[in-house]
Amino acid sequence: MSDESPERGNPEELDSLAADVQRGFDEAERLPSRLERYGFAKARAVATLGNIRGVVNRSEFEDTGYTLKQLEKLAAQVPKLSSCGEYLHFRNYYTAGSVRLHSANFCKNHLLCPLCAIRRGAKTLKVYLDRYRAIIAQRGKMRLSMLTFTVKDGPDLAERFEHLKHSIEECSRRRRDSKAGNRIVTEWTKILGAVGSYEIKRGKNSGEWHPHVHIMVLHRDRFDWQALKDEWLKITGDSHVVNCTPAKHPDNPEIDFLEVCKYSVKFSDMDKDDLIEAYLVLSGCRMLFSLGEFRGVKVPEPLEDEPLDNLPFVDLFYGFFQGVYNLVATRKQGEQPYFVDPDSNHAVVAFHALVASDVGKKAILEHVPYSYQESLKKPVKRLRFPDDVIFEVRKLKAEELERKRSFQNLYKYGQVKGKPEYEPNSG
Ligand SMILES: [Zn+2]
Repeated sequence: MSDESPERGNPEELDSLAADVQRGFDEAERLPSRLERYGFAKARAVATLGNIRGVVNRSEFEDTGYTLKQLEKLAAQVPKLSSCGEYLHFRNYYTAGSVRLHSANFCKNHLLCPLCAIRRGAKTLKVYLDRYRAIIAQRGKMRLSMLTFTVKDGPDLAERFEHLKHSIEECSRRRRDSKAGNRIVTEWTKILGAVGSYEIKRGKNSGEWHPHVHIMVLHRDRFDWQALKDEWLKITGDSHVVNCTPAKHPDNPEIDFLEVCKYSVKFSDMDKDDLIEAYLVLSGCRMLFSLGEFRGVKVPEPLEDEPLDNLPFVDLFYGFFQGVYNLVATRKQGEQPYFVDPDSNHAVVAFHALVASDVGKKAILEHVPYSYQESLKKPVKRLRFPDDVIFEVRKLKAEELERKRSFQNLYKYGQVKGKPEYEPNSG
């Protein structure tokens, strides 16, 4: 009954997305593999960054085929992509055996950045699974199926994407009208709830853009496949390609829902020029939609894990260098940070992490470690801080000096109790 089976996509990032929603994803013993997965994604983001920089730099000397506006849009992504995932701040809740991602500077551009795509996909998967379980608990078991619709391949991505999107919206409108009592015959009325996503790739044979949509649907009545195909052809005018398969793992729906949420990691699968083109065309487009029972599900904005309240913890700061995440500093709750290798550049990465987090800022103001103060004496250039951090460092350094000075001044001028010679009019 399939015209084509759903494709697997980029296996590493797809597996990584799946791993982030598995039960026990936050177990302490899984942290090394989690860091490895994120490191892999970050490395791919670095490669994409290189490609974008290449295009932007080349455009100064030759015609790259991009408009000035497009080049500006690309250039604007460079700093965001380069600092995304530079550090990861995990919080180890050691009494619960749980390690949660507490903070990171995510770029949130999941079209270009595989790391943000994994986190975004995982967050999406989780909220829709939760809704699915709630619906089943409330309304009893229903059929769960995956519908895939495609349009004819074409050379113009924007035109093809619009065509697909418009066709899906038309189906959704027919469903709504039919449910409202209008005399429209549509298979779509059988859909009680649905969540779907648009996916883009190159057609295997045509080499042209091949946009398609995967929709996870809840229904009680079986679909008439032929009727679905006929209806789709009538609406699109160019394609009857519809795939309809029952969920393969109704008791373990993560695997089925993954098919809908994997759109976010599919971009890293593309050829480098295709990725840039897809980004320029699709950034700002909604790639996810829902119907009926799945309406109104909100995917949370933050890409970090949810913190565990009221449990003791140790902070773990990882920095990305030499292609992997390395532990650079730890910090016990309420204590000063401990730098794994304070004399190396690694400490700089850790410092960046600390500066970026509120707890870190406080920790540094309270206890600037000696080795860190020493490192400040090195020329700033050698430390290769990004500009905003250099600013923070100078500010913190100045504040720390100011604090010390005023502290010393207090003693010097005897305004502190316990220096009786200066105590004013005490007797
Ligand atoms: Zn990112």
